[in-house]
Amino acid sequence: MHDIPTTIRFPQGVFNELQSRLLQDSSREAFALLSGKRTTKDGFCVIKVTDAYYPSPDDYDEQSISSLRLKRSFIYDKLVKLQQSGNNDTLIDVHTHPFCSDSVAFSAVDDHDEDTFHRWLTATLDGFHYASIVLSQTDYAARTWEIDGENSVHCAARIKTQTAGENWPCAEIKCHQDVAMESFKIQNGFLARSALALGLETLRRVTNDQTIGIIGVGGLGSVIAENLIHSGFHAIHLIDPDRVEVTNLNRIVGAYYSDAEANRLKVAVVKEHLQRINPAAVVYAHAIGVEDEAALAALMQCDWLIVTTDNHFSRYQAQNIAIQLGAPLISAGVNITVEGQNVTDMSGEVITARNGDGLCLNCLGRINPTAVAAHEHRGEFVGDELVRRGYVSGHEVKEPAVKTLNAIVGALTVDVLLNQYTYRQSHEPIWVYENNQGPALYADSDSASSRLENCYFCS
Ligand SMILES: [Zn+2]
Ligand SMILES: [Zn+2]
Repeated sequence: MHDIPTTIRFPQGVFNELQSRLLQDSSREAFALLSGKRTTKDGFCVIKVTDAYYPSPDDYDEQSISSLRLKRSFIYDKLVKLQQSGNNDTLIDVHTHPFCSDSVAFSAVDDHDEDTFHRWLTATLDGFHYASIVLSQTDYAARTWEIDGENSVHCAARIKTQTAGENWPCAEIKCHQDVAMESFKIQNGFLARSALALGLETLRRVTNDQTIGIIGVGGLGSVIAENLIHSGFHAIHLIDPDRVEVTNLNRIVGAYYSDAEANRLKVAVVKEHLQRINPAAVVYAHAIGVEDEAALAALMQCDWLIVTTDNHFSRYQAQNIAIQLGAPLISAGVNITVEGQNVTDMSGEVITARNGDGLCLNCLGRINPTAVAAHEHRGEFVGDELVRRGYVSGHEVKEPAVKTLNAIVGALTVDVLLNQYTYRQSHEPIWVYENNQGPALYADSDSASSRLENCYFCS
């Protein structure tokens, strides 16, 4: 029943802060309380960490190398606060075992204390869930607690942060033999040259520990998918309900004339292409839109979401799911404007919205709320009225599209993603490619700094 481990997702920088604050004094155990919001679907569970609370020295009753006891008032105060906030449904307690130099596990005392606390919490607060984490200097163990009939049972959980720069724990490979075997496979397989450029450590993480979800696998999404496979990503979810048409063949990577003739699904065609390059890759084809309920379960398994669709409604949906799950989102988009005989704009942009960065497609003004409303109410009076008044177009407009622009922006997207693992360059939330006066690539920091403050969605 609990085959799929729960994922505890940390916002940018929070896991790092937790580690450094709790482990700075190796002479005694330390404690922190995290609040979280759970999403469950089809057996998957993601807990998004929403806040961290650190007790002051006065909040401890006792604190030694092998034990700690907090004043009850600290816990009660925080619980009242969490209950009032209404945005949280999970309590995660974190403590350290500073005496463990490497691998760490919950002790029998932890089992007993947490079991007691969980029973108390469940009896006291309705609908609150409980999880716990124990940290050593280099390792962690995490678990969730559930009531199963009369018993209180715990199930292993895993921690995920968004970037390699946060010193995240990669629990997938622990034994040295596995590391040696994985390294051998990478250095002697098709990633040998990539390993020389990106480093073995990056590729080990990319191949073993990371799953990417692509929403929209048309001209841009298919290029991104191909770049991901060539970069070593082994687990990819493709989400797109559309079928290949002859007019798509000028830009969809992996699509052949026969695919258009047979009117095949884009996700099936691109999946086949990816697995021809790397038969060991696990590619899931979901022939659904992101607004379909089943897309949520697929995206819950992903470390990064990439949205490439050209309509406001699906971008809005993708951003909402990313915020709900605490998952980082990359949005890639292109634009070609033709006036009369002239191309007046040919450009694209790649936006990275990580949880905790305080920006999203909404506050950056990249989503038109009227277009979202019109889509949500299409076929009803409100939607028709918006179309009639010219606020939005009534049907999918056939936009001009060329492969060169998609190829450049698609490759840039995967480059931006890889930088989250290598941290070769400092992070920029918005990159723009423009081919008007001539090809130009620049960071759009103006747009990021002038975003709407106190965003309803992401702040
Ligand atoms: Zn302990
Ligand atoms: Zn926002």
